[in-house]
Amino acid sequence: MQPRDLSDHVAYEAGRGIEEVARELGRDPSEFIKLASNENPHGPSPAAAVAIRETASSVNSYPKAAHADLTSAVADRWDVTDEQVWLANGGDGAIDYLHRATLEPGDDVLVPAPGFAYYGMSSRFHHGDVREYSVSREEDFEQDAEMVLEAYDGERVIWITSPHNPTGSTMPLAELERLADETGDETLIAVDEAYGEFADRDSAIALIEGCDGFEARDDVAILRTFSKAYGLAGVRLGYAVVPAEWGEAYTRVNTPFAASELACRAGLAAVDDDEHVVRTVETTRESRAYMREHIDAHVWQSEGNFVLVAVGDASAVAEEMQERGVIVRDCSSFGLPGCIRITCGTEDETQRAVATLNEVLEDFDLETEPTDGVEDPDAEVADS
Ligand SMILES: *Cc1c(COP(=O)(O)O)cnc(C)c1O
Repeated sequence: MQPRDLSDHVAYEAGRGIEEVARELGRDPSEFIKLASNENPHGPSPAAAVAIRETASSVNSYPKAAHADLTSAVADRWDVTDEQVWLANGGDGAIDYLHRATLEPGDDVLVPAPGFAYYGMSSRFHHGDVREYSVSREEDFEQDAEMVLEAYDGERVIWITSPHNPTGSTMPLAELERLADETGDETLIAVDEAYGEFADRDSAIALIEGCDGFEARDDVAILRTFSKAYGLAGVRLGYAVVPAEWGEAYTRVNTPFAASELACRAGLAAVDDDEHVVRTVETTRESRAYMREHIDAHVWQSEGNFVLVAVGDASAVAEEMQERGVIVRDCSSFGLPGCIRITCGTEDETQRAVATLNEVLEDFDLETEPTDGVEDPDAEVADS
């Protein structure tokens, strides 16, 4: 026998790791830096690393107390009830839970293109279909309600990524509210704030809570993760914040113990470690500004811990940068050919990435410059 028809399903293309790349190129891993998966260049919160070590000897127990404690800590932080916090195995796990809680077979979800691949994958796992709205390059990837409403056709869930991966753009809360107002009662607006900590904006959790001038609503859910600003991508911990009316559903959609004991203990330590997050956000801002200022190609404004750069032949540029020791993300798999995404690194990493990219761009330019008798008006200027 065979698995069910999976022809609509596609494999997730993760950014490649240093070990993997070094092995393939037959080189030493220490020659590389990786700025391809939006990881935290400062590592995990030191307090979280201690918590993981201390928890090692008790991983024979199922995560119960730690799960409840972390749920409360997160609920306190956002001023919502414990029932409104759905801890999950990474933000990806929270995407699954929201789909489990909403989708009937054949329901549609509406997702951004370009965009994060897992929304569509998860919908298909839950026997849902996928439609797309476009976040348009012509509009510099700016996001508003209209852009989504143009494509909206009564879908059960609409995914908004704010800050958006891979472009870095955000959708203002007023636009999110408008979108929720103008879509059907049975349409959930799921706002993915995986990069929320890096943005100069308030969380859309305000729309659920009904604060800051917004009325509390029951058709918005927010996704957050410990993978990015908290530096805990490896332990897999994220959560959804859902409307008060939804709390009950969690026990029915939660995979038992999906947020592991190590993850919950690390998360508990990390939520109290403001210093690490502040430092991470600071480094990110500096790195973003440096890249925008110094890269010799178009860099879009970003509120995430990465920037998107227009480089032309993105796969060739990414490959050549990798050859020179800097691993970045070719955005073709996001549906954005011609662009690479560079994660904000430490100051040294950022400078090396920018220098490497500029060198690669210059070398490619030289290669493609007309040589056989055709005058290039810019060539002389560049020479002088
Ligand atoms: C990284 C990311 C997530 C969640 O990642 P997890 O590691 O599963 O927490 C969700 N959405 C977007 C857009 C992301 O980039």
